[in-house]
Amino acid sequence: MTHTPLKDNYDVTVIGGGIHGAGVAQAAAAAGYQVLLLEKNDWAAGTSSKSSKLIHGGLRYLQSGQFNLVRESIQEREILLQIAPDLVNRNNFYIPIYKNSHYKSWQLRIGLSLYALFGGNRVNCRYKKLKPAEAAKFHGLKTDQLKHLFCYPDAQTDDRLLTRAVIASARKLGANTLMPAQLLNAKHVVGGYTLAVQWQGKARQTTSRVVINATGPWANTVNTLVSPAPPTVAVDLVQGTHLILEGQISNECFYLEAPQDQRAVFVLPWYGNTLLGTTERLFEGDPDQVEPSLAEQYYLLEVLEYYFPDFEVKVVDAFAGLRVLPKQQERAFKRSRETQLICDRAHSAQWISIYGGKLTGYRATAEKVVKLIRQSIGPRTQIANTRNLRLKLSE
Ligand SMILES: Cc1cc2nc3c(=O)[nH]c(=O)nc-3n(C[C@H](O)[C@H](O)[C@H](O)COP(=O)(O)OP(=O)(O)OC[C@H]3O[C@@H](n4cnc5c(N)ncnc54)[C@H](O)[C@@H]3O)c2cc1C
Repeated sequence: MTHTPLKDNYDVTVIGGGIHGAGVAQAAAAAGYQVLLLEKNDWAAGTSSKSSKLIHGGLRYLQSGQFNLVRESIQEREILLQIAPDLVNRNNFYIPIYKNSHYKSWQLRIGLSLYALFGGNRVNCRYKKLKPAEAAKFHGLKTDQLKHLFCYPDAQTDDRLLTRAVIASARKLGANTLMPAQLLNAKHVVGGYTLAVQWQGKARQTTSRVVINATGPWANTVNTLVSPAPPTVAVDLVQGTHLILEGQISNECFYLEAPQDQRAVFVLPWYGNTLLGTTERLFEGDPDQVEPSLAEQYYLLEVLEYYFPDFEVKVVDAFAGLRVLPKQQERAFKRSRETQLICDRAHSAQWISIYGGKLTGYRATAEKVVKLIRQSIGPRTQIANTRNLRLKLSE
């Protein structure tokens, strides 16, 4: 728990201590604003500790034509590899293509070439095509009917630790970071908002010129606490479950096509164990209550058994997180993963809600939010640039 006192006024208040709230608090503090960050539960307690833990361009988003997202994510991946070498590491990802795979080798070649181009076609961004005989080194991978094994580089992180490192950086830049501290309600007044905050057992009041709603799956619930109500976006919450299995299948990563429905499922090394995920299941309920279902666990284990039939499965943990996706008829897998920033332009002071987005792009998103803050309340003297700020494992 942080014992920093709550001040009477802030330039910027950020609600939600996930990666987006952390990123905005850091970027706004670096831009010279007086910042307050509130988290009701624990740092990264929401989606930001329930992801697949990849810092990636999102190879599969090329399929749905989300080129800007892929380009920006690859740029951000390269930046994070530089500024957070203790937290983000490059790793090889293998895609096996079998005779009956939905995707063909020529499609993979095109996709992976484009992916490498977005990475500047540098040596460490290029893919390789291996022969089936070379798959022998991956003990246990099904080789029957295997045609090719593609290998491309992407990166992994520990999402919870990355979020904490960004919060530590925000704090160093002067941000006031309070946890557990919950926004109870907010009211627009001349020049800003008055905010009621549950902090140290009491409801306390503060004011802020701009407020950023970075509460992920809670965004629309939090917007109902605001008077007058800010604009909102109709979203679906789509649950994704991961399993942690005892023992490490490989110290490299596998990107597999689920035989049941051709979705992407990852098999990843995770602290000496194996991380297996993820699923997509429409969620309608309280985001605080999201839990992995048995059907999701069976689905994931079926995928694993298909590709690694001899692996002895022992599930040591399971967790579920919620994607925030625009409400559409499309399958969740095909929907836009672009971040949406929704501003209340009806009032001179701004209420900005962040919808969707990726762990990977948090820094770019935060810089876009700071641009909106600048337009609303004017610039301050910049004290640092998030592009160069080193992120370290929190003390
Ligand atoms: C299954 C899954 C896998 C994913 N895998 C990847 C991946 O591999 N790579 C990638 O780049 N992205 C991935 N993502 C996306 C990424 O995880 C999310 O975009 C990101 O974590 C969202 O962060 P956030 O800060 O917006 O929300 P959250 O992390 O959910 O944070 C919101 C916070 O707001 C707090 N809060 C709520 N209400 C209040 C209140 N009233 N007062 C104060 N605090 C409040 C909550 O406690 C919570 O901590 C994945 C997402 C899912 C669901």
